[in-house]
Amino acid sequence: MSRLNELLHQAGSIGRNGDGSITRVGFSREYFQALELLKEKMEELGMRTETDLVGNLHGILPGTDPKAGIIAIGSHLDTVIRGGLYDGMLGVAGAIEAAARLREEGRRLRHSLEIWGFNMEESSVLGGTFGSRCVTGKIDPDVPGYKEKLEKFGLSPEIVRSVRRDLEDYKCYLEYHIEQGGRLDASGTDIGVVSGIVSVVRYDVTARGMSNHAGTTMMDSRKDALTGMAKLIVGAEKRARELNDTLVFTVGKLSVLPGQENVIPGQAEATFEMRHMDKTMTDQLFADIKRMAEEIPDCTFEFSNSAAKYSTPCDPRLIRLIDQVCEKKNIRHMIMPSGAFHDANPMAQAGVPIGMIFVPSVKGISHQGEEYTAPHHVDLGADVLYETVLELDEKGLEQMGAAAAAIK
Ligand SMILES: [Zn+2]
Repeated sequence: MSRLNELLHQAGSIGRNGDGSITRVGFSREYFQALELLKEKMEELGMRTETDLVGNLHGILPGTDPKAGIIAIGSHLDTVIRGGLYDGMLGVAGAIEAAARLREEGRRLRHSLEIWGFNMEESSVLGGTFGSRCVTGKIDPDVPGYKEKLEKFGLSPEIVRSVRRDLEDYKCYLEYHIEQGGRLDASGTDIGVVSGIVSVVRYDVTARGMSNHAGTTMMDSRKDALTGMAKLIVGAEKRARELNDTLVFTVGKLSVLPGQENVIPGQAEATFEMRHMDKTMTDQLFADIKRMAEEIPDCTFEFSNSAAKYSTPCDPRLIRLIDQVCEKKNIRHMIMPSGAFHDANPMAQAGVPIGMIFVPSVKGISHQGEEYTAPHHVDLGADVLYETVLELDEKGLEQMGAAAAAIK
């Protein structure tokens, strides 16, 4: 077993459940146990380490040229409840593997190399990507009610503010992650070069009809809100398939009022979520859904926008560079968007150029114990990450110029 696969399994033995899944949620005892393991590994490699006040792990390998700036690599150390071995941990362990190879090969980078193992990336009462939002300042700890939530973890708004970093010297942020979808696995592709992270747009949709007796109200005089909603959902799903092959549409929540078996539903509520890289695509789908809603008889619809996180593109120079590394190594790869959020999002929002590398998740399974990435893919992705770091260090991101600016 390779060094990296071994480290992954070592980390995965912490918080292991009887069914093989792993529970290492942010701030838990298991979380900090895993953090200590990785911290030790970093220190063995001569890195200066620190655990910040919100539980992020941070390590520095100083470069030879203090003016060259910093290449940052990271991902998260927490899992969901009953999660898998690879989500998050792969990126941190893969970054440590890069540091280990540098040492092994007796290389010193011009840039400083910083590795982040972020806390609580997975969704929680504190919101997703908590640790990286603290570091990048992309969090407002003063929103009403947030202080009380922080207190549950022994934190305060002051602590959150205090861990914010100056990212001025960050030349880029790289994240190595499992795909968590099935595109790479299904197409026999070994590496995904991420073009960006898709936008997530959500609406709360309410259909209103009229409640009435389920026995005495004949079919031609009903105003059934649920069948109206059902027609809209089926229509929207069909439209999403027609519009674009990477546009996704999901109704994950549906409720009916009054919710009794002998009463025709007078109201139905659902969440409509759509994701795509291109905002015009989600806008188009929503416009089509509204048009369809107007044509559904006996029902009126109301739409209220509940989330609109717009897409985060990866830096075109980094996309090209990772693509070139794959070309040079003759690796089967493709440029693809990420359907999930990552710690790279707040980094990009803070103005740091981001690049991401994906490896296949077998059958696209993630966030559960059966999450699996083949050992050779684990090593391959880390190798691409390492080569990317070497190239970046040699050329410098600024020198890579605008030639790649056209890549989408
Ligand atoms: Zn993750």
